[in-house]
Amino acid sequence: MHIDYITPNHWSIIEEGWNPDNVKSSESLMALGNGAMGQRANFEEDYSGSTFQGSYIGGVYYPDKTRVGWWKNGYPEYFAKVLNAPSWIGIKVTVNGESLDLHTCKEVNDFRRELDMKSGVLYRSFKATLQNDVEIAVKSTRFLSMKMDEVGAINYEVTPINEDATISYEPYLDSGITNEDSNWDDKFWNTLEVSEDDDMAFITAHTMKTEFHVCTMMHNSFNIDGRKVALSRKRTNATETYIGHIYETEISQGETFSIHKLGGYVSSLNHEQDNLVNAATTVINEAAAIGFDALQQLQKELWAQTWEMSDITIEGDVKAQQGIRFNIFHLNQTYTGQDSRLNIGPKGFTGEKYGGSTYWDTEAYCIPFYMATKDQQVARQLLTYRYNQLDKAIENAEKLGFSGGAALYPMVTMNGEECHNEWEITFEEIHRNGSMVYAIYNYERYTGDTTYIPEMGLEVIIAVARFWRQRATFSKAKNAYVILGVTGPNEYENNVNNNWFTNYIAKWCMEFAFAKAELIRDTQKQDWSRISGKTHLSYDEMLSWKSTAEQMYFPYSEEHDVFLQQDGFLDKELITVADLPKSNRPINQKWSWDRILRSPYIKQADTLQGFYFFEDHFTQENLEKHFDFYEPFTVHESSLSPCVHAIQAAKLGRMDQAYEFYLRTSRLDLDDYNKEVEEGLHITSMAGTWQSVVEGFGGMRVKNDTLSFETKIPDAWEAYSFKVNFRGQILKVEVNKSETAFTLMSGEALDIIVNGNKQTVSA
Ligand code: BGC
Repeated sequence: MHIDYITPNHWSIIEEGWNPDNVKSSESLMALGNGAMGQRANFEEDYSGSTFQGSYIGGVYYPDKTRVGWWKNGYPEYFAKVLNAPSWIGIKVTVNGESLDLHTCKEVNDFRRELDMKSGVLYRSFKATLQNDVEIAVKSTRFLSMKMDEVGAINYEVTPINEDATISYEPYLDSGITNEDSNWDDKFWNTLEVSEDDDMAFITAHTMKTEFHVCTMMHNSFNIDGRKVALSRKRTNATETYIGHIYETEISQGETFSIHKLGGYVSSLNHEQDNLVNAATTVINEAAAIGFDALQQLQKELWAQTWEMSDITIEGDVKAQQGIRFNIFHLNQTYTGQDSRLNIGPKGFTGEKYGGSTYWDTEAYCIPFYMATKDQQVARQLLTYRYNQLDKAIENAEKLGFSGGAALYPMVTMNGEECHNEWEITFEEIHRNGSMVYAIYNYERYTGDTTYIPEMGLEVIIAVARFWRQRATFSKAKNAYVILGVTGPNEYENNVNNNWFTNYIAKWCMEFAFAKAELIRDTQKQDWSRISGKTHLSYDEMLSWKSTAEQMYFPYSEEHDVFLQQDGFLDKELITVADLPKSNRPINQKWSWDRILRSPYIKQADTLQGFYFFEDHFTQENLEKHFDFYEPFTVHESSLSPCVHAIQAAKLGRMDQAYEFYLRTSRLDLDDYNKEVEEGLHITSMAGTWQSVVEGFGGMRVKNDTLSFETKIPDAWEAYSFKVNFRGQILKVEVNKSETAFTLMSGEALDIIVNGNKQTVSA
């Protein structure tokens, strides 16, 4: 644990007391989003202390030219960047001519911020004594509207405490912004036009290279002690990349002067590029007509609907409760499933690190959360995103020398092209290709939607099987197919041979492709003729997948009776993490890369990832052996690690360990386990946290089209509950120390399996 200043609370993330060292962490923890855009919890007023400014628009990115020492064939040309967008939240505040800046104030008292996750609203309040000795009380309320996803709203209030004061607000827009994470210090935005109209202002800018056009907008109105006042603008401050409207008024001691600032973005992703100011005017006028209070009320209602389905309650353990809601909240603000061009970036809208928007995390970790807490259409959108990028994945494989329609999905992407330039990730972490097919399988297994595979999925499955067939090579020495030179999920080993997980998922993909192709051929003639025509697939090729799969090699140790993570794993000096001095950790910050690579330490579930995906292929005893062999070498330095281990520990009945992993995954960012929360949150692993409750403690699985449960409860909890949408029926599961209750919230009677026994839950 690295930080512990967040007050435990069931529904809120609360920071109390002013500590400038917490500013960047809280900016991440209290970030807001609404699926279409998001922003770090930066202050509205100026702040000259250390801060990380960030506002992001879903789908708007910049291809930053790759920076490598020695260029090699096949390197991706650019590393796409989540782009810091023009800022719309800023309000410069002066009191009797003195600027409000918490970094330079004489005193700051009663500082408090609260992210109210129940209603998706961020509150901040403090008292400050400025250099001119005027004391003021400040309150701000901010949210990104779930109702109007191009709009955000701020209510900012100043009350002079010790004397009457002249207060001026300068709400502004600023496109002169930079990215923290930039390879060449390129300029990412080109501002085209700064304009204004009454109480509104606009900045139209486009991204360099990608040419996304964006109009950033604001609309301002004012109240004194809750009464609307019509203030005329004193002045406009404008430059080529900035526009601020200055309003000033005399305020008596104890009176409150507030500004309602509505702002946000319209972009060429959703509007005509040449008409953005008009589109912005329409949107912002519509928001102004609804008004701040009514928008906030709508926000509350829409979040209540979201929570109604996706909440997990935990009784008796407030930190665990806060942790899970924090994770669920951020997942819901990052992706709403409304736009198939968008996806879930590892940092969501909370930071720039990881550049690209989409990793294998979506398929390997995120799909189950969206599948079970939303309409199935949302998870289908995520699959469609990859289907729409199939041509690019085929091109990507061609660039690396593959042919005949083989596809290699990128490790990191914005638009389907690979956009990560680290070689071991880009070229070697090919297991991600298998996760594309696994997600399709998982989706069909959970939702029962058998239309996706013939409509779209089969083309992806075929292209991925083709890749594996070509990537596997026949070893005469081993008399089997081998997969050489890979990095498995454990990024702390590079260029290894026969990573068990990679070989396993490759084999499984080829078998699955064979079975699904044969099924569609035999049962859906029309679809088959379209797909086989389009892909030029022959039966001989299908047979080649089958025989490659049958002859796949898996490294195995007789001595330990476990599959080996890779051919050379046992050559390592096998000292467990428990015997590694604490001062050496995290090894990714303390050790040289060379030392990490030859160590036995595992960053995240690797062989155990295979046991998680393909649990039914192995016995409980198998799982136990592998867990006992690999977990002691695992340093869990990827956010994606603790959740898989929590699920498996729970399955093995090791509840203390499962609970420890649960806390680590659910409070990873709240307690900053990995010492990097300032850079942003770990959004994709948050879905794993949800799984560790539902699949770990709830033991939920789908077996033969039926939901199955084996519930357990950690000692520290009195009770917990969750809901899942299974094929259109909502099932509520409530577990306490002595019993589990299943309630059907909608739909016909539902058959489920509980601890191996069939049970019918009636409405
Ligand atoms: C993990 C990858 C993951 C990426 C983005 C890395 O630290 O090792 O498996 O895809 O983070 O979350």
